[in-house]
Amino acid sequence: LHSTIPTNDSAHARSVLLATTPHRAASEGDLITALHVLSHFQAKLDVPVPADPPIFDAGSTDSQSATLGVSKFGSKPSAWIDKYFPVMNEPIKGGQAVEAWKDGELVWAAPLEELPLEGDVGGEFAEFIGPWHGLSKNGSAEGALVYAGYGSPEELAAALSTARAQGVDTTGCIALVQYGKLFRGLKVKAAEEAGCSACIIYSDPVDDNGVLSSVYEEYPAGPARAPTAIQRGSVQYLSLYPGDPTTPNEPAYPNSTRLDGGNIPGIPSLPLSMQNAEKLKEVALQEGVVVKVVNKVDDHVMPIWNVMAAIPGHIADEVVVVGNHRDAWVMGAADPISGSATVHEIVEGFSVLLSKGWKPLRTILFASWDAEEYGLIGSTEWGEDFASWIEDHVVAYLNVDVSAAGSRFHIGASPSLAHLVRSSAERVPHPTDPGRSLWDATKDTGIYTERPGMSALSQEEANRFRDERVAWAEYTAVSALGSGSDYTVFLQHIGVASSDGGFAGVVSDPVYHYHSVYDSVTWMEKFGDPGYHRHAAVAKYLGLSALRISDAIVLPINTTQYAYELSYYLQKVEDVASSGAFEFDFSELRDAITSLQESSIALDSEKAFAEAELIKELKKYMKHHLHHGAGKCLRRRFAGLRNWVKGIFGVKPAAPYGVPKALIRAAKRVRKINKQLMGFERAFISPQGLRHREWYKNVLVAPGIWLGYGATTFPGLTEAFTIDKSSSLAQSEAERLTELISGAAEGLKVKALGCHA
Ligand code: GLU
Ligand code: CA
Ligand code: ZN
Ligand code: ZN
Repeated sequence: LHSTIPTNDSAHARSVLLATTPHRAASEGDLITALHVLSHFQAKLDVPVPADPPIFDAGSTDSQSATLGVSKFGSKPSAWIDKYFPVMNEPIKGGQAVEAWKDGELVWAAPLEELPLEGDVGGEFAEFIGPWHGLSKNGSAEGALVYAGYGSPEELAAALSTARAQGVDTTGCIALVQYGKLFRGLKVKAAEEAGCSACIIYSDPVDDNGVLSSVYEEYPAGPARAPTAIQRGSVQYLSLYPGDPTTPNEPAYPNSTRLDGGNIPGIPSLPLSMQNAEKLKEVALQEGVVVKVVNKVDDHVMPIWNVMAAIPGHIADEVVVVGNHRDAWVMGAADPISGSATVHEIVEGFSVLLSKGWKPLRTILFASWDAEEYGLIGSTEWGEDFASWIEDHVVAYLNVDVSAAGSRFHIGASPSLAHLVRSSAERVPHPTDPGRSLWDATKDTGIYTERPGMSALSQEEANRFRDERVAWAEYTAVSALGSGSDYTVFLQHIGVASSDGGFAGVVSDPVYHYHSVYDSVTWMEKFGDPGYHRHAAVAKYLGLSALRISDAIVLPINTTQYAYELSYYLQKVEDVASSGAFEFDFSELRDAITSLQESSIALDSEKAFAEAELIKELKKYMKHHLHHGAGKCLRRRFAGLRNWVKGIFGVKPAAPYGVPKALIRAAKRVRKINKQLMGFERAFISPQGLRHREWYKNVLVAPGIWLGYGATTFPGLTEAFTIDKSSSLAQSEAERLTELISGAAEGLKVKALGCHA
């Protein structure tokens, strides 16, 4: 990329443009930001601007995704908006309350508001949307308050039994749990299953690591938490399925048949600030006090807008998707506008390349997803709408959600993309530390370190990613993806190799006011990414990754790394089984993994030979038929090469001379390998899906049933031991894995096509 693109200043300008209006999904501000993004795509990609914005109702036959879909993105870049119709909800003003009552008297009512703070631009919009949970249950409840840690099923069971032992009537009690560890919707689910009648989730300072208001000033003067900050967020039962609650597996069209319930809570819930939680514990965790929770919400079909743009490649039917959500709970300077600004910088960069005559080898599709915050809705509905197209054509999905909210860079990815993403990050300079790389920032630990015990804690943090792997799997420090952002439908439902990454907060970083009105441009400028260096660095990294996937001759999908990671997954599930005292024979599964490793290694040499052969044949051809010193000038040689790849990869050969058979054969050989590589992750999709959650179909990785964000590898088999505790289920899960892995090994087999050196 041109050395001045991406730039900090233009990322900053985008951040101001998109994060100074509240833009919750389906709101007026959301449509305004959708149109901003559309015009950015149009301007930078040189897309003609029609009189009316090209907004298409999903399901209508003129939908751009539907008509341009398949391999026909045309020959020029295009941009459009797909509108979907999910059921979501919004709080009724004044309809939320948390109260403590004793002997029929109101003891305390929580002031449920985030206060405007002098000097913060977000606080002005504190009134815009009060504290409440997306997709929460309408209703009210009252009962004794029971504090249950992070709200896992185990913690809830323990807390309720302790309370009962102390004489508390826990029937229909109100669970008070803190944010952190498991996805918030799963806390509500656990509370519901434990028999609670409502769930209150609060921000606890223990999760602010070292940056406490006892040591540092509170935001906006300093890096500590603003005491009234509230974390909104969806309470969808994410590990059942994401997307529109009423249309699992199907896209949400205006006239869709809808179901009730599904993946949403059966009990009301509310978020609480650190300040209010302290007070609530003080007044309500005592005998005779009853807590009342009121949550009045309005559920209805709401329109959402996914903004899309395509840059067609020479190989039009192989597509790389780069996605980021646009909707925010309020302002969302970090979540997600840091990521949106990052994608805008990538588009800026590609725009310069386009103006110089570049055309990607493969098609690149950009997506600005809507309603991620309610439960990955925009991406999931689009994925469900075009599942078979994605299956046939998408080679990889690169996601960015929050790109800048702290000092540590992290990447999660399918193991087949781990080398690619890591090596891209190694090639990008560290945003603020000359001489180090962006990858080096995976070990950074922030700046606010004046706290006793801090260094020990940060070391522990730093170690978390390391040394887990057994010796034979090459250690990449790229973690497995669970869920919680828009890669989910691609990776978990359809089997597309995916990645996600950005800067996140760790120990001794300024407190990130996640899903609060204070996730504002002020916070970003002062604390999150002063100077916007991180925004630009992530754009370089992600743009480079997209370019490398798009422009590689042989797709940079490393099946061997994945095959070796499977030995590590196997070891993990063996440990799970033996810690549960199961005697289990893993030998067939182990054999299948070994055979996958073997066929993948064989394919690796085929990849190298085939690529070398294609380049050789191209050079030979150019030397013979293209005069004027082709082969001398690198740039011209590659321009020529690309042209020929275009010619022989299925598009009409534009040869002034006949194309030699050897060249066609070499190109076909590469094309075939690329199909095998693209199909690799699809091979792990089981049509009947996982037990307990059929929507999730990838048998290698799924969001943990009680984690949500975190991944469980070999989920079906692992859960047979941990949840069902059944050997016979484990047996059938092991058979399913063995069958799919053997199928994948078969799919990678090198089938001779012409000569093999
Ligand atoms: N990323 C959002 C969150 O963590 C949405 C996740 C979801 O609902 O699936 O709240
Ligand atoms: Ca759906
Ligand atoms: Zn987000
Ligand atoms: Zn979010």
